[in-house]
Amino acid sequence: MAKPTSWATLSALVTTGSACSYCGAREDLVAHHKLPRRLGGPDALENLEPVCRSCHPAVEQVAAAEAELVWERPERTEPDARARRPARLPRPY
Ligand SMILES: [Zn+2]
Repeated sequence: MAKPTSWATLSALVTTGSACSYCGAREDLVAHHKLPRRLGGPDALENLEPVCRSCHPAVEQVAAAEAELVWERPERTEPDARARRPARLPRPY
């Protein structure tokens, strides 16, 4: 499968002129995978957000935990539990 955009280009697109999505820092940014790569998250703009290096470890943990919750709970999850889940987990301040 052809990759139209290299990781270097994508990562530059996400981080250049951006601020950390969590603390607003403008330096030391990395392109964070909202859905982790190991869970099939694509190297695509819609799956990336700018996060600074100091927030990144915490953000990765939240993303992984959230993604695994989604993965481990297929259709048979009772609708209640699903509705109670927040759309976004609280920010890891
Ligand atoms: Zn940050």
